[in-house]
Parts: sequence; structure tokens; C-alpha cells
Amino acid sequence: MAKKEVDDRFKKFGTVSFTAISKTNDFIDYLEEGRVMGTRCKDCGARFFPPRSDCSTCLQSNMEWFEVSGAGRLMSFSELKYGPVGFEDDLPYTIALVDYGDFKVFGRIAKEIPYEDLKVGMELKSVSNTLPNSQLNYVFKRP
Ligand SMILES: [Zn+2]
Repeated sequence: MAKKEVDDRFKKFGTVSFTAISKTNDFIDYLEEGRVMGTRCKDCGARFFPPRSDCSTCLQSNMEWFEVSGAGRLMSFSELKYGPVGFEDDLPYTIALVDYGDFKVFGRIAKEIPYEDLKVGMELKSVSNTLPNSQLNYVFKRP
């Protein structure tokens, strides 16, 4: 069996399951600072979220961090009544895909926005969030 890399920092991360990639685990440190970050390829400029350590466009590994700032547009959303193991206490919640132009962010809608108020095309921003169990994630809020 293949041995998986383990980075303890990912234990603090709730809501979204990422494949643990040690090079991109600074993501968690940035969340602790209140910043949602993706990676940008220094060679071709491609931007990635969730952050990647290798560019799938030009296959280089020359990455830098950028902050996911400003607002994107809601592309699609769905209310979850059943969640993965470990997230049952948060249910129900709404997951969404937000389009930032050259990259997209998948995540959870903040509880403060009622489901009825969500409309495809509305502007949302990504903000870091601490869950009651002190795990970190990010949520979409109104700009
Ligand atoms: Zn590239």
C-alpha cells in the first residue's frame, strides 16, 4: 500500500477535504491569520484553488501564494442534509462553487445567509472561519 504523507496542520481544517499535500499546508497557517490563499504559477500565471504545488498548465513547480480577495460570483449551490463523517453536527449546510474568473472556489455558504436568499450570479467573498470545535475553514459571505 502507498504510504500517505501526513501533516498535522490539516487536522485543524474542517468542512472541505483536501488531499494532504505537504507543500501546500501553509494554507492552514494562512487561515489562522485570517487569509484564504491559493497558489499562482510564476512561470505561466495560472492560478489554483485549492492550492497546488505543481502547475497543471505548464508542469513547473515554481509557485507563489496569492490571497483570494474580493468577490466572485455564485455559480451553483446545494444544501447538504447528510455530510461526511465528522461533519454531522454542522448539518444542514450549503455548499457552493464561486467563480473568480480564472479560478473557482468550492466551499460552504455562511450560516448567516438564508438558503432562500441565494441566487446564481450573486457576489460572494471567501473569508476564513473558525468552527465551534476550533477547526478552521473558510466560508462564503456577502461582500
Ligand atoms: Zn504554469
